[in-house]
Amino acid sequence: METKVDPFENMVKIVENAASKLGYDKSVINMLTHPQRAIEVSIPVRMDSGEIEVFTGYRVQYNNARGPYKGGIRFHPAVNLNEVKALAGWMTWKCAVVGIPYGGGKGGVIVNPKELSERELEELSRGYIRALAPFIGPEKDIPAPDVNTNPEVMAWMMDEFSKIKGYNVPGVITGKPLEVFGSKGRIIATSLGGKYVLEKAVEMFGLKKGTLKVAIQGIGNVGGGIFKLFSEDPMFRVVAISDSRSGIYDENGLDERVEEILNHKKEKGCLKGISNVKEISNEELLELDVDILIPAAIENQITKKNADRIKANIILELANGPTTPEADKILEKNDVIVIPDILANAGGVTVSYLEWVQNLQNYYWELEEINSKLRKIMIDSLVEVNRIREQHGVSMRIGAYMLAITRVVKAMKARGWV
Ligand code: NAD
Repeated sequence: METKVDPFENMVKIVENAASKLGYDKSVINMLTHPQRAIEVSIPVRMDSGEIEVFTGYRVQYNNARGPYKGGIRFHPAVNLNEVKALAGWMTWKCAVVGIPYGGGKGGVIVNPKELSERELEELSRGYIRALAPFIGPEKDIPAPDVNTNPEVMAWMMDEFSKIKGYNVPGVITGKPLEVFGSKGRIIATSLGGKYVLEKAVEMFGLKKGTLKVAIQGIGNVGGGIFKLFSEDPMFRVVAISDSRSGIYDENGLDERVEEILNHKKEKGCLKGISNVKEISNEELLELDVDILIPAAIENQITKKNADRIKANIILELANGPTTPEADKILEKNDVIVIPDILANAGGVTVSYLEWVQNLQNYYWELEEINSKLRKIMIDSLVEVNRIREQHGVSMRIGAYMLAITRVVKAMKARGWV
């Protein structure tokens, strides 16, 4: 039986597995598998109709042994507390894997933002911050964008928090626009960090030379971003990409049409109607005969049902939690290299950290400086995870969790928590 698709239960399983390999006892594992705080808020918004609608929001503060809580805010109709708990846990491990001085947190609001007007969306964003203002701040908990939230939403949120405080507090949130204390390189950081790791992995695992065929699930911030980066690099050829409704495929590559495809998605809101491509489903995309598969959408896409049919040599998990634990076992058996989410997509939080550092010192760096710091952090982390993988004979995922958990537990021990 496939594990019930509960991302928090899935995360707990992996933490238990990695922590027991490290020899940690039940008390430590208990600490690692419970968030420190989970907050639920009601956010009233006066809609354009004149009626007040009340939205439910969450903020989970998972662990702050290594620094303030850090993690994005998701606006999605399927948001629920267990999902936010999983996402907050993943942030804890992610920050620890790349060695940045943060704990983990995450937020979410149950809403379909596509059904809101711009004014309603702004009201909701500001309301979320008013409800959570006592619990966040540059030294406490620093939110950022996630699914369906973007720099504009971050600007409203930073502005609302600053109004409450009575002065500008740029360090309360990251992923802001450049005009209001954002960092160069932040928008593309998750995708670029993923590409740095992928390039190093291709070299490390001696993958075939020549152009590598890529399929990307998701064409949002992250999937669209890496599509653009690949289109400028002859080492990669993107043959398929999708959104929530459908995908497109061209074995000769979509790279030369990247602008057209991204514009089509922006204007029409979908990928349907693009000429001279084959329309495929998300299920078909995942099973294509490609070298590299990049899930960049949502959780639980690679499951026990389809894992055996995956043909890619490397899966670069830019989405959080795209693979279930059962699927992981099948992929491992089939020698598919999975570069796990907590490493593969850590570029976003890494440049968020660099944004926060710039905010705190009120001194802003050039793009070259940011990207070279990002590159070093991502590659060093991959090399370290691979070292642990080889040393313990485990998968990349378990290796990444072992590294992260070791760092979090060392901090908890030093503080006298365990
Ligand atoms: P986004 O909202 O910009 O894009 C999400 C994409 O996924 C869209 O193209 C959407 O159409 C697609 N999608 C949604 N449901 C789908 C489904 N059922 N099947 C296939 N596609 C579907 O979000 P994003 O910021 O690009 O985030 C994507 C993933 O990356 C999430 O898992 C997120 O947690 C993770 N992530 C994002 C960042 C970041 O900096 N934005 C950082 C780390 C991890």
